[in-house]
Amino acid sequence: MSNLAPKASDYLNDPARLEALYRLDILDSEPEEAFDAITRLASTLFDVPIATIHLLDDERQWVKAATDSAHAGEAPVQETVCQYTVRDDEVLVIPDLTDDPRFRDAEFVTGEKALRFYAGAPLRTREGHNVGTLCLMDRRVRPPLDGKGLRLLCQLAEVVVDTMELRSAQDQARRTLLRAVEEDALTGLMSRRGILLHLQRLLGSEMETPPEIAMIKVRLGRLGQVLRGYGSAVSNQILQDMAERIQETCHSDELLARLDETTFLIARVFPSDVTSTDESTLEAWADARAREVVACVDEPFTVDGDTFHLSATAGVVRSPRDGVDAYGLLDAADEASASAEHRAAGRGIIQWGASGESGKHRHKLSLERRLRTAVDRGEFALAYQPIVDLQNDYSSVGAEALIRWPQDDGSMIGPDLFIPLAEELGLIHPMGLWVFETACEALRHWQEATGRDLWTSVNLSPLQLHDPRLAERLAGMATAAGVNPRQIKLEITESALIERFDEVSGLLDALTEVGFPLALDDFGTGHSSLSRLINLPFSILKVDRVFVSDSPHGPGAAVVASLVELARSLRLEALGEGIESEAHETFLRGNGYRFGQGYRYARPLDGDAFVARIQGE
Ligand code: C2E
Ligand code: MG
Ligand code: MG
Repeated sequence: MSNLAPKASDYLNDPARLEALYRLDILDSEPEEAFDAITRLASTLFDVPIATIHLLDDERQWVKAATDSAHAGEAPVQETVCQYTVRDDEVLVIPDLTDDPRFRDAEFVTGEKALRFYAGAPLRTREGHNVGTLCLMDRRVRPPLDGKGLRLLCQLAEVVVDTMELRSAQDQARRTLLRAVEEDALTGLMSRRGILLHLQRLLGSEMETPPEIAMIKVRLGRLGQVLRGYGSAVSNQILQDMAERIQETCHSDELLARLDETTFLIARVFPSDVTSTDESTLEAWADARAREVVACVDEPFTVDGDTFHLSATAGVVRSPRDGVDAYGLLDAADEASASAEHRAAGRGIIQWGASGESGKHRHKLSLERRLRTAVDRGEFALAYQPIVDLQNDYSSVGAEALIRWPQDDGSMIGPDLFIPLAEELGLIHPMGLWVFETACEALRHWQEATGRDLWTSVNLSPLQLHDPRLAERLAGMATAAGVNPRQIKLEITESALIERFDEVSGLLDALTEVGFPLALDDFGTGHSSLSRLINLPFSILKVDRVFVSDSPHGPGAAVVASLVELARSLRLEALGEGIESEAHETFLRGNGYRFGQGYRYARPLDGDAFVARIQGE
C-alpha cells in the first residue's frame, strides 16, 4: 500500500513527462481492443467492477479504456485521484475514499454513482515518467491489496506500458514507411506517390466545387549524358541543386515534387472560392512559372569544378480541362511534357495541355465500357438490305443482315466503327451469335408474313472462324428458330481466309455439311491466292463495290467482267455489291451477274420496312 510521497506538485507540468506522454501519441485515440482486454482482465483478477486506463497531461485525465462506460471520457486533472498516483512510483490504494480528506467532498465520492474504493498503479514509460494509471475501483469499501495483489497490479501496469510502446513503435514504422514512399530520397521533395496522394486529397474532398489546379511538369534534358560521362554522384548533385533552385522560385501556395529520374512537377492550387481564378489568371501563372523554371535550368551547374549545361522542356496542364482526378491530371502532365520534348528535341519548349492522345484513349475506354454493356444486354439492331435478282425483274430474293448500334440520342453507330473493337475485346463471339439468332428469327417472320421463299445473309467475322464448334452452334440456333440452314447464307470475307487456311477450310466444310451456303464477301479486295480459293465450298461470289462503282468505264469494269467468268467456271453465282446507278445495273446484268445489292434498290431497312417492300413487289 502506498504512502503518499508525492513528487513535486508541479510534476504534472513537467515538460519531460509531457513529452514522454505525447511521444506515445495515444491521447484522444480511438478505443483499442488490446487495452480493453487488459482492463477486463484486471477486473476479473481482482474481482472489482471497474478497471480503467487513464492518461494524464497537465490539464486533463483522459480514459483510454474502461470496463464501465460510465467512467469513459475525461475530467480536469486537478479533480482526480490519479494525479496523486502518477506522482508516486508505487501503487496508491485508498480502501475508503470517504476517509480521505482530499476526496471526501469530491463529486465522484458523493454523487449518485459514488466510488469508495480506489487502487491505481502508475504507468511508467521507458524514460521513467509516469504518464497515466491502471486503476481498480469499486462502489463499496474494500480491504487494501495484499503484497501479491500489489505486485500483480504493477505487472499489469507494465503490460499496459508495453502495449502503448508497441503501438507507438508500429505507428512510427508505418509513418517512416509512408514517408519513404511519399518522399523522394535524393531531394527530400514529394515523390510521385506523395503528390498523387496530396492531389487526391485536394480533388477528392467533399467540397461542392473542387479547387482548380494548374501543373507544370519540367523534364531535364541531357542529364543522361552527364550520368554516362560523369557518374551518378555528379548527376545526383545536379539534381539536388536543381531541386533547390526550383524550390527557391516556389511560392508558399505551390507544391513541388520530383516525379521520376529527370522530372519535377510544380502545382498550384486555386481554391474554388477565389473569384479571381479565371482562365487568364490560371494560364498566366502557369505560363510565367513554366518560363521561369525553364530559364533557371538553363543556368549552368557547377560540380567539382566542372560546368554542366542542361536544358528543360515543360508541359502545362490544368484541371478540369485536362483531367478531373489526380491520376488523370498526372497522366495528362506526362503526355504534355512528352509532347513538348518531342517538339523541342530537348530545348526550352513549353507545351500547353495534353496533345490529344489521352483524349482519344479516354474516348476509346468509354466506348469499350459501353460496348461491353451493349453486348451483355443485346442492345443492337439489325438492318436488312434487299438482294435482288438481276436476271428476273429485280425482285427481292432475300436480304443481308447488317448490324447497327443505336445510341441514346437516337443516332446509330455503324459496324465499321465498333466491329474492330468488338474483335479486339473478344466480344465478337457473343455479338456474332446475337446477330445470327436475330436474323434467323427475322427470316422466319418474313417467310410467314410474305409466304415467299426468302433467304438472309449473315456476316461472320474472321475471328468467329476460330470457334471449332461454330457449325454445331449455328445449326442448333437455326433449328431452334425454325428455319432451314439452306436459307441462311454465311458471308465470309476473303481476308478471313488468308491466315490459318487449313483450319478455316475444315470449318467451312463443317458449315456446309450442316447445310449453310457460303458467300465469299468483298471479293477482289483481299490478297488470297485463287488456287486456294477454288477448293473452298463457296456458292456465291460477292464482288466488292469498289469495282462496281468503277463500272462501266473505269478500270474496275474489267475486274467485274472477269470475276463473273471466274464464278461461272467455278459454278458459283455472282453477286454485285454497291449498285447505285442504272449504268452499274445495266453493266452487271449484261455481264451475267445473277444477284445485285445496292442503294439503287434499297438502303439497309428495318425489319418492318423490308416486309412492306416485299409485300409491295
Ligand atoms: P459488307 O458485308 O460488305 O456490307 C455491305 C456494306 O455496304 C454495308 O455497310 C452496306 O450498307 C453498304 N452498302 C450497300 N449498298 C451500298 C451502295 O450502293 N453504296 C455504298 N456506298 N454502300 C453500300 P455497313 O452496313 O456499314 O457494313 C459495313 C461492313 O460491316 C459490312 O460490309 C460487314 O463487313 C460488316 N458488318 C456488318 N454487319 C455485320 C455483322 O453483323 N457481323 C460482322 N462480323 N460484320 C458485319
Ligand atoms: Mg457482307
Ligand atoms: Mg461486302
